[in-house]
Amino acid sequence: MGKEKIILTGDRPTGRLHIGHYVGSLRRRVELQNSGLFDKTFIFIADAQALTDNMDNPEKVRQNVIEVALDYLACGLDPTKSTIFIQSQIPELCELSFYYMNLVTVSRLQRNPTVKTEIQMRNFETSIPVGFFTYPISQAADITAFKATTVPVGEDQEPMIEQAREIVRRFNHIYGETLVEPEILLPDNAACLRLPGTDGKAKMSKSLGNCIYLSDTADEVTKKIKSMYTDPNHLRVDDPGQIEGNTVFTYLDAFCRPEHFERYLPDYPNLAELKAHYQRGGLGDMKVKKFLTAIMQEELEPIRNRRKEFEKDIPAIYEMLKKGCDVARAQAANTLDEVRRAMKINYFDDAELIAEQSKKFKGE
Ligand code: ATP
Ligand code: MG
Repeated sequence: MGKEKIILTGDRPTGRLHIGHYVGSLRRRVELQNSGLFDKTFIFIADAQALTDNMDNPEKVRQNVIEVALDYLACGLDPTKSTIFIQSQIPELCELSFYYMNLVTVSRLQRNPTVKTEIQMRNFETSIPVGFFTYPISQAADITAFKATTVPVGEDQEPMIEQAREIVRRFNHIYGETLVEPEILLPDNAACLRLPGTDGKAKMSKSLGNCIYLSDTADEVTKKIKSMYTDPNHLRVDDPGQIEGNTVFTYLDAFCRPEHFERYLPDYPNLAELKAHYQRGGLGDMKVKKFLTAIMQEELEPIRNRRKEFEKDIPAIYEMLKKGCDVARAQAANTLDEVRRAMKINYFDDAELIAEQSKKFKGE
Protein backbone atom coordinates (compact mmCIF):
# COMPACT_ATOMS: atom_id res chain seq x y z
CA MET A 1 0.00 0.00 0.00
CA GLY A 2 1.10 3.55 -0.71
CA LYS A 3 3.81 2.44 -3.11
CA GLU A 4 2.02 3.43 -6.28
CA LYS A 5 2.25 7.03 -7.46
CA ILE A 6 -1.22 8.18 -8.39
CA ILE A 7 -2.44 11.51 -9.76
CA LEU A 8 -5.98 12.72 -9.22
CA THR A 9 -7.56 16.04 -10.03
CA GLY A 10 -10.71 17.47 -11.55
CA ASP A 11 -12.85 20.41 -12.54
CA ARG A 12 -16.41 21.51 -11.96
CA PRO A 13 -18.60 21.48 -15.08
CA THR A 14 -19.89 25.00 -14.47
CA GLY A 15 -18.52 26.33 -17.76
CA ARG A 16 -15.92 25.72 -20.42
CA LEU A 17 -12.34 25.68 -19.16
CA HIS A 18 -10.27 28.86 -19.26
CA ILE A 19 -6.61 29.85 -19.29
CA GLY A 20 -6.62 29.98 -15.46
CA HIS A 21 -7.37 26.26 -15.37
CA TYR A 22 -4.77 25.75 -18.04
CA VAL A 23 -1.85 27.35 -16.17
CA GLY A 24 -3.11 26.36 -12.72
CA SER A 25 -3.51 22.66 -13.36
CA LEU A 26 -4.35 21.42 -16.86
CA ARG A 27 -0.98 22.09 -18.52
CA ARG A 28 0.79 20.35 -15.63
CA ARG A 29 -1.51 17.34 -15.75
CA VAL A 30 -0.72 16.71 -19.38
CA GLU A 31 3.02 16.89 -18.64
CA LEU A 32 2.65 14.52 -15.69
CA GLN A 33 0.49 12.13 -17.70
CA ASN A 34 3.19 11.98 -20.38
CA SER A 35 6.15 11.87 -17.97
CA GLY A 36 5.87 8.16 -17.28
CA LEU A 37 6.61 8.87 -13.60
CA PHE A 38 3.13 7.92 -12.38
CA ASP A 39 1.43 4.56 -12.17
CA LYS A 40 -2.08 5.91 -12.66
CA THR A 41 -3.77 9.19 -13.54
CA PHE A 42 -7.41 9.92 -12.68
CA ILE A 43 -9.09 13.06 -14.02
CA PHE A 44 -12.71 13.71 -13.18
CA ILE A 45 -15.54 16.05 -13.99
CA ALA A 46 -16.99 17.12 -10.64
CA ASP A 47 -20.67 17.34 -11.57
CA ALA A 48 -21.94 16.37 -8.11
CA GLN A 49 -19.84 19.14 -6.58
CA ALA A 50 -21.06 21.61 -9.24
CA LEU A 51 -24.63 20.81 -8.16
CA THR A 52 -23.88 21.92 -4.59
CA ASP A 53 -24.16 25.55 -5.72
CA ASN A 54 -26.14 25.01 -8.91
CA MET A 55 -28.88 22.79 -7.51
CA ASP A 56 -31.53 24.77 -9.38
CA ASN A 57 -29.69 24.59 -12.69
CA PRO A 58 -29.03 20.94 -13.53
CA GLU A 59 -29.14 21.68 -17.26
CA LYS A 60 -26.09 23.96 -16.95
CA VAL A 61 -24.11 21.19 -15.30
CA ARG A 62 -25.30 18.60 -17.83
CA GLN A 63 -24.33 20.80 -20.79
CA ASN A 64 -20.90 21.55 -19.42
CA VAL A 65 -19.83 17.96 -18.77
CA ILE A 66 -19.14 17.47 -22.47
CA GLU A 67 -17.55 20.94 -22.77
CA VAL A 68 -15.04 20.09 -20.05
CA ALA A 69 -14.35 16.68 -21.61
CA LEU A 70 -13.66 18.38 -24.96
CA ASP A 71 -11.32 20.87 -23.30
CA TYR A 72 -9.44 17.99 -21.66
CA LEU A 73 -8.90 16.17 -24.92
CA ALA A 74 -8.03 19.41 -26.72
CA CYS A 75 -5.27 20.09 -24.18
CA GLY A 76 -3.78 16.64 -24.63
CA LEU A 77 -5.26 14.51 -21.86
CA ASP A 78 -5.23 11.06 -23.38
CA PRO A 79 -7.78 8.41 -22.35
CA THR A 80 -5.27 5.66 -23.14
CA LYS A 81 -3.01 7.08 -20.41
CA SER A 82 -5.48 8.74 -18.01
CA THR A 83 -8.81 7.56 -16.65
CA ILE A 84 -11.32 10.35 -17.30
CA PHE A 85 -14.64 9.97 -15.46
CA ILE A 86 -17.73 11.71 -14.11
CA GLN A 87 -18.00 12.07 -10.33
CA SER A 88 -21.74 11.37 -9.94
CA GLN A 89 -21.38 7.96 -11.60
CA ILE A 90 -19.28 6.68 -8.70
CA PRO A 91 -21.74 6.18 -5.79
CA GLU A 92 -18.91 4.85 -3.61
CA LEU A 93 -17.78 8.46 -3.24
CA CYS A 94 -21.02 9.36 -1.41
CA GLU A 95 -20.58 6.51 1.01
CA LEU A 96 -17.02 7.54 1.80
CA SER A 97 -18.13 11.15 2.37
CA PHE A 98 -20.79 9.93 4.76
CA TYR A 99 -18.22 8.19 6.95
CA TYR A 100 -15.71 11.05 6.72
CA MET A 101 -18.35 13.47 8.02
CA ASN A 102 -17.86 11.92 11.45
CA LEU A 103 -14.21 12.94 11.39
CA VAL A 104 -14.65 16.67 10.76
CA THR A 105 -16.15 19.35 13.00
CA VAL A 106 -18.48 22.12 11.91
CA SER A 107 -16.03 24.73 13.18
CA ARG A 108 -13.24 23.19 11.12
CA LEU A 109 -15.37 23.56 7.99
CA GLN A 110 -16.26 27.13 8.92
CA ARG A 111 -12.56 28.02 9.01
CA ASN A 112 -11.90 26.93 5.39
CA PRO A 113 -10.78 30.20 3.74
CA THR A 114 -11.66 29.17 0.17
CA VAL A 115 -15.17 28.11 1.14
CA LYS A 116 -15.57 31.37 3.11
CA THR A 117 -14.70 33.44 0.02
CA GLU A 118 -16.94 31.33 -2.19
CA ILE A 119 -19.89 31.74 0.21
CA GLN A 120 -19.46 35.51 0.02
CA MET A 121 -19.16 35.46 -3.78
CA ARG A 122 -22.39 33.51 -4.05
CA ASN A 123 -24.26 35.67 -1.52
CA PHE A 124 -25.29 32.58 0.43
CA GLU A 125 -24.97 34.46 3.74
CA THR A 126 -27.22 32.59 6.15
CA SER A 127 -28.71 30.19 3.61
CA ILE A 128 -25.64 28.06 2.85
CA PRO A 129 -26.62 24.69 1.38
CA VAL A 130 -25.30 21.89 3.60
CA GLY A 131 -23.91 20.14 0.52
CA PHE A 132 -21.91 23.20 -0.46
CA PHE A 133 -20.66 23.77 3.09
CA THR A 134 -19.41 20.19 3.28
CA TYR A 135 -17.89 19.90 -0.20
CA PRO A 136 -14.34 19.81 1.20
CA ILE A 137 -15.33 16.48 2.79
CA SER A 138 -16.67 15.11 -0.46
CA GLN A 139 -13.47 16.27 -2.12
CA ALA A 140 -11.49 14.27 0.43
CA ALA A 141 -13.54 11.25 -0.63
CA ASP A 142 -12.72 11.91 -4.31
CA ILE A 143 -9.00 12.05 -3.55
CA THR A 144 -8.75 9.14 -1.13
CA ALA A 145 -11.01 6.76 -3.05
CA PHE A 146 -8.27 6.57 -5.67
CA LYS A 147 -5.40 6.59 -3.12
CA ALA A 148 -4.07 9.65 -4.87
CA THR A 149 -0.55 10.65 -3.87
CA THR A 150 -0.35 13.80 -6.00
CA VAL A 151 -3.03 16.41 -6.65
CA PRO A 152 -2.06 19.08 -9.23
CA VAL A 153 -4.27 22.14 -8.58
CA GLY A 154 -4.29 25.93 -8.25
CA GLU A 155 -3.66 27.76 -4.99
CA ASP A 156 -7.36 28.04 -4.06
CA GLN A 157 -7.36 24.27 -3.50
CA GLU A 158 -4.72 24.33 -0.75
CA PRO A 159 -7.26 24.28 2.11
CA MET A 160 -9.08 21.34 0.47
CA ILE A 161 -5.95 19.22 0.28
CA GLU A 162 -5.10 20.11 3.88
CA GLN A 163 -8.61 19.03 4.91
CA ALA A 164 -8.19 15.75 3.04
CA ARG A 165 -4.84 15.13 4.75
CA GLU A 166 -6.42 15.71 8.17
CA ILE A 167 -9.21 13.25 7.40
CA VAL A 168 -6.70 10.62 6.28
CA ARG A 169 -4.60 11.02 9.44
CA ARG A 170 -7.64 10.85 11.68
CA PHE A 171 -9.11 7.86 9.85
CA ASN A 172 -5.82 5.93 9.95
CA HIS A 173 -5.32 6.81 13.62
CA ILE A 174 -8.74 5.51 14.65
CA TYR A 175 -9.26 2.60 12.25
CA GLY A 176 -5.70 1.60 11.30
CA GLU A 177 -3.53 2.40 8.25
CA THR A 178 -5.94 2.35 5.33
CA LEU A 179 -5.90 5.65 3.44
CA VAL A 180 -3.09 7.47 1.65
CA GLU A 181 -2.19 11.08 2.50
CA PRO A 182 -2.16 13.19 -0.69
CA GLU A 183 0.39 15.88 -1.57
CA ILE A 184 -0.62 19.08 -3.32
CA LEU A 185 1.30 19.98 -6.48
CA LEU A 186 1.12 23.73 -7.11
CA PRO A 187 2.37 25.46 -10.26
CA ASP A 188 5.97 26.58 -9.77
CA ASN A 189 5.37 29.87 -11.60
CA ALA A 190 3.89 32.37 -9.09
CA ALA A 191 1.67 34.01 -11.74
CA CYS A 192 -0.04 30.66 -12.33
CA LEU A 193 -1.04 29.96 -8.74
CA ARG A 194 -4.16 32.07 -9.13
CA LEU A 195 -4.43 33.72 -12.51
CA PRO A 196 -6.45 36.97 -12.23
CA GLY A 197 -9.46 37.68 -14.43
CA THR A 198 -9.34 39.97 -17.48
CA ASP A 199 -11.09 42.54 -15.25
CA GLY A 200 -8.15 42.55 -12.82
CA LYS A 201 -10.16 40.70 -10.14
CA ALA A 202 -8.18 38.30 -7.96
CA LYS A 203 -9.20 35.09 -9.75
CA MET A 204 -10.25 34.19 -13.25
CA SER A 205 -13.38 32.21 -12.56
CA LYS A 206 -16.18 30.71 -14.60
CA SER A 207 -18.63 32.13 -12.08
CA LEU A 208 -17.31 35.71 -12.46
CA GLY A 209 -17.43 36.02 -16.26
CA ASN A 210 -13.88 37.38 -16.52
CA CYS A 211 -12.37 34.53 -18.48
CA ILE A 212 -10.47 33.81 -21.65
CA TYR A 213 -11.74 30.36 -22.57
CA LEU A 214 -9.56 27.74 -24.21
CA SER A 215 -12.27 27.41 -26.87
CA ASP A 216 -12.66 31.16 -27.57
CA THR A 217 -12.18 32.07 -31.24
CA ALA A 218 -9.07 34.01 -32.28
CA ASP A 219 -11.24 37.15 -32.58
CA GLU A 220 -12.70 36.74 -29.12
CA VAL A 221 -9.23 36.35 -27.62
CA THR A 222 -7.99 39.49 -29.40
CA LYS A 223 -11.03 41.49 -28.23
CA LYS A 224 -10.75 40.33 -24.63
CA ILE A 225 -7.07 41.25 -24.46
CA LYS A 226 -7.76 44.65 -26.02
CA SER A 227 -10.19 45.57 -23.25
CA MET A 228 -8.17 44.00 -20.45
CA TYR A 229 -7.47 45.72 -17.15
CA THR A 230 -4.01 47.34 -16.90
CA ASP A 231 -2.75 50.21 -14.73
CA PRO A 232 -5.66 52.69 -14.41
CA ASN A 233 -3.21 55.56 -13.80
CA HIS A 234 -1.22 54.91 -16.95
CA LEU A 235 -3.18 57.35 -19.10
CA ARG A 236 -0.63 58.63 -21.61
CA VAL A 237 2.12 56.60 -23.22
CA ASP A 238 4.76 58.77 -21.53
CA ASP A 239 3.36 58.24 -18.01
CA PRO A 240 5.28 55.80 -15.83
CA GLY A 241 3.27 52.57 -15.52
CA GLN A 242 2.81 50.03 -12.79
CA ILE A 243 3.53 46.32 -13.22
CA GLU A 244 2.10 45.05 -9.93
CA GLY A 245 -1.55 44.17 -10.27
CA ASN A 246 -1.34 44.89 -14.01
CA THR A 247 -3.11 41.92 -15.52
CA VAL A 248 -1.39 42.13 -18.90
CA PHE A 249 1.99 41.72 -17.24
CA THR A 250 0.72 38.95 -14.99
CA TYR A 251 -0.40 37.03 -18.09
CA LEU A 252 3.01 37.67 -19.67
CA ASP A 253 4.60 36.22 -16.52
CA ALA A 254 2.43 33.14 -16.98
CA PHE A 255 2.82 32.62 -20.74
CA CYS A 256 5.82 34.50 -22.12
CA ARG A 257 8.97 32.56 -23.08
CA PRO A 258 12.29 34.04 -24.30
CA GLU A 259 11.71 32.95 -27.90
CA HIS A 260 8.51 35.00 -28.07
CA PHE A 261 10.61 38.19 -28.14
CA GLU A 262 12.56 37.12 -31.23
CA ARG A 263 9.32 36.22 -32.92
CA TYR A 264 6.95 39.03 -31.98
CA LEU A 265 8.85 41.87 -30.27
CA PRO A 266 12.50 41.91 -31.35
CA ASP A 267 13.07 45.47 -30.00
CA TYR A 268 13.28 44.00 -26.50
CA PRO A 269 15.66 41.26 -25.34
CA ASN A 270 13.43 39.94 -22.54
CA LEU A 271 10.47 40.49 -20.22
CA ALA A 272 12.55 42.31 -17.58
CA GLU A 273 13.49 45.01 -20.15
CA LEU A 274 9.90 45.32 -21.33
CA LYS A 275 8.73 45.80 -17.75
CA ALA A 276 11.48 48.34 -17.03
CA HIS A 277 10.44 50.42 -20.04
CA TYR A 278 6.80 50.35 -18.99
CA GLN A 279 7.72 51.46 -15.48
CA ARG A 280 9.92 54.33 -16.79
CA GLY A 281 7.17 55.52 -19.12
CA GLY A 282 7.11 55.69 -22.90
CA LEU A 283 5.61 52.25 -23.57
CA GLY A 284 1.91 52.13 -24.44
CA ASP A 285 -0.58 49.51 -23.26
CA MET A 286 -1.56 48.72 -26.85
CA LYS A 287 1.93 47.55 -27.77
CA VAL A 288 2.13 45.24 -24.76
CA LYS A 289 -1.36 43.92 -25.43
CA LYS A 290 -0.48 43.15 -29.05
CA PHE A 291 2.52 41.18 -27.87
CA LEU A 292 0.38 39.25 -25.39
CA THR A 293 -2.21 38.58 -28.09
CA ALA A 294 0.42 37.04 -30.39
CA ILE A 295 1.64 34.78 -27.58
CA MET A 296 -1.86 33.70 -26.58
CA GLN A 297 -2.88 32.93 -30.14
CA GLU A 298 0.21 30.78 -30.60
CA GLU A 299 -0.59 28.84 -27.41
CA LEU A 300 -4.34 28.51 -27.98
CA GLU A 301 -4.52 27.79 -31.69
CA PRO A 302 -3.45 24.12 -31.54
CA ILE A 303 -5.84 23.55 -28.61
CA ARG A 304 -8.70 25.15 -30.54
CA ASN A 305 -7.94 23.05 -33.62
CA ARG A 306 -7.76 19.78 -31.72
CA ARG A 307 -11.08 20.61 -30.05
CA LYS A 308 -12.71 21.05 -33.47
CA GLU A 309 -11.55 17.56 -34.43
CA PHE A 310 -12.94 15.97 -31.25
CA GLU A 311 -16.24 17.86 -31.67
CA LYS A 312 -16.87 15.81 -34.81
CA ASP A 313 -17.57 12.62 -32.85
CA ILE A 314 -19.45 13.43 -29.64
CA PRO A 315 -20.84 9.88 -29.10
CA ALA A 316 -17.24 8.63 -28.97
CA ILE A 317 -16.54 11.06 -26.13
CA TYR A 318 -19.49 9.84 -24.07
CA GLU A 319 -18.29 6.29 -24.73
CA MET A 320 -14.80 7.22 -23.51
CA LEU A 321 -16.28 8.77 -20.35
CA LYS A 322 -18.40 5.71 -19.72
CA LYS A 323 -15.36 3.44 -19.91
CA GLY A 324 -13.50 5.81 -17.59
CA CYS A 325 -16.39 5.61 -15.09
CA ASP A 326 -16.23 1.78 -15.11
CA VAL A 327 -12.50 1.77 -14.39
CA ALA A 328 -12.83 4.46 -11.71
CA ARG A 329 -15.74 2.72 -10.06
CA ALA A 330 -13.82 -0.54 -9.69
CA GLN A 331 -10.95 1.32 -8.06
CA ALA A 332 -13.22 3.24 -5.66
CA ALA A 333 -15.06 0.01 -4.75
CA ASN A 334 -11.74 -1.59 -3.75
CA THR A 335 -10.93 1.27 -1.43
CA LEU A 336 -14.44 1.20 0.00
CA ASP A 337 -14.05 -2.50 0.83
CA GLU A 338 -10.92 -1.70 2.79
CA VAL A 339 -12.64 1.21 4.52
CA ARG A 340 -15.61 -0.93 5.54
CA ARG A 341 -13.31 -3.60 6.90
CA ALA A 342 -11.27 -1.03 8.86
CA MET A 343 -14.47 0.51 10.25
CA LYS A 344 -15.82 -2.90 11.23
CA ILE A 345 -18.96 -2.63 9.13
CA ASN A 346 -18.16 -5.64 6.91
CA TYR A 347 -20.52 -8.03 8.71
CA PHE A 348 -21.15 -10.62 6.05
CA ASP A 349 -17.67 -11.29 4.70
CA ASP A 350 -16.16 -11.76 8.17
CA ALA A 351 -16.34 -15.46 9.06
CA GLU A 352 -14.44 -14.83 12.30
CA LEU A 353 -17.06 -12.37 13.52
CA ILE A 354 -19.88 -14.85 12.96
CA ALA A 355 -17.96 -17.66 14.68
CA GLU A 356 -17.09 -15.41 17.62
CA GLN A 357 -20.67 -14.24 18.10
CA SER A 358 -22.09 -17.72 17.97
CA LYS A 359 -19.59 -18.87 20.59
CA LYS A 360 -20.50 -15.91 22.81
CA PHE A 361 -24.20 -16.68 22.69
CA LYS A 362 -23.64 -20.35 23.35
CA GLY A 363 -21.74 -19.25 26.44
CA GLU A 364 -18.52 -20.95 25.35
P1 ATP B 1 -16.14 27.80 -10.24
O1 ATP B 1 -16.23 29.29 -10.32
O2 ATP B 1 -17.35 27.08 -10.71
O3 ATP B 1 -15.62 27.31 -8.91
P2 ATP B 1 -13.46 27.71 -11.28
O4 ATP B 1 -13.14 28.56 -12.45
O5 ATP B 1 -13.01 28.14 -9.93
O6 ATP B 1 -15.01 27.43 -11.32
P3 ATP B 1 -12.85 24.95 -10.70
O7 ATP B 1 -13.48 23.87 -11.50
O8 ATP B 1 -13.38 25.26 -9.34
O9 ATP B 1 -12.86 26.28 -11.59
O10 ATP B 1 -11.28 24.66 -10.56
C1 ATP B 1 -10.61 23.65 -11.31
C2 ATP B 1 -9.11 23.73 -11.14
O11 ATP B 1 -8.58 24.89 -11.76
C3 ATP B 1 -8.62 23.80 -9.69
O12 ATP B 1 -7.43 23.06 -9.61
C4 ATP B 1 -8.32 25.25 -9.47
O13 ATP B 1 -7.32 25.45 -8.50
C5 ATP B 1 -7.81 25.65 -10.85
N1 ATP B 1 -8.10 27.06 -11.11
C6 ATP B 1 -9.32 27.61 -11.25
N2 ATP B 1 -9.22 28.93 -11.49
C7 ATP B 1 -7.89 29.22 -11.51
C8 ATP B 1 -7.12 30.41 -11.71
N3 ATP B 1 -7.71 31.56 -11.95
N4 ATP B 1 -5.76 30.33 -11.64
C9 ATP B 1 -5.15 29.15 -11.40
N5 ATP B 1 -5.81 27.98 -11.21
C10 ATP B 1 -7.15 28.01 -11.25
MG1 MG C 1 -13.63 26.91 -8.12
